[in-house]
Amino acid sequence: MPTTIANLRAPLHKRVPAALQRRAAMLRHRGATVACPVCGHAFDRFKDDWNRPNAICWRCGAHERQRALWLYLERHPELLAGAGELLHFAPEWCLERRLRAVPGLRYRTADLDPRLGELQLDITEIALPDGSVDAVLCSHVLEHIEDDRAAIAELARVLRPGGWLLVMVPLDVDRAATWEDPSIVAPAERQRAFWQYDHVRLYAPDIAERLRAPGLQVERVRWTRALGPALAARHRLLDADDVFHCVRPAAAAPG
Ligand SMILES: [Zn+2]
Repeated sequence: MPTTIANLRAPLHKRVPAALQRRAAMLRHRGATVACPVCGHAFDRFKDDWNRPNAICWRCGAHERQRALWLYLERHPELLAGAGELLHFAPEWCLERRLRAVPGLRYRTADLDPRLGELQLDITEIALPDGSVDAVLCSHVLEHIEDDRAAIAELARVLRPGGWLLVMVPLDVDRAATWEDPSIVAPAERQRAFWQYDHVRLYAPDIAERLRAPGLQVERVRWTRALGPALAARHRLLDADDVFHCVRPAAAAPG
C-alpha cells in the first residue's frame, strides 16, 4: 500500500531505472499462465512478494487483494455506475488509475499522509459532513488503526443512506475471534502476532460484527470461492481475501 505509492513518488532519477527494470521484467515474464484483471496483462507468473511467491503484477503492481477487489467491482457494475462520489482510503495506484477512468464517477483519494491522497483525512475523525459520500473503498487500512471502531463509525457516518462501503483486511479465516493486545507494540512482536510490523490486531471473520455496530448492513463475501478455482488460479487470488460489503440502510431502523 504506502510502499508502492511512495516508490512511485520517488525522485525522477530513481524512478527511471525502476521503470526500465519493470519493463525488462514484463518482457522476461511474458506468458499466458496468469493474468492481471487490473491492467489486463498476462505473464508466465507474477512477481514474488516478501512472504509468498507469485503475488504481484509486473505491470501495475496489483497484489492478490487488489485483483480480487477489481474483479468484484467489475462483476458488480451497478456499484460504480450508481456511486456518483467515491472516496478511496489509502489508494492503491493500480486501482486508482482504473477508477479515475470510470465515466461519471467523482473519485477522490484520502490518506492521513497528505502525500498519499487528495484529501488529508484521519479515518477516526473524518472531516466530511454526515451522509456526504456515496461510496467508500477501505482495503487493508483498519488493521493499522488503533481505534478501528471509531473509524468504522466514521465511515458509516459519512456514507449517505443507501451508500456502500467495501472493506478488506488481512483475515485469519481459521480464527474464531479478532485478536488484539495493546501490550504488543514492538514491531517484531507485532510482526509475529499480527502478521506485519505495523498491524495492531489480527482480524477474524467476526470483523463483520464490528462493521455492523454503527448500523451498517454487512455481507461477508467469500469472493475467491465465488469466482471458482479456474479464475482463482488464473488471477492468483487468495482464499482469505473476503470482501465485506457494507451498506448504510436507506431508512433508520425502527426503534
Ligand atoms: Zn496488473
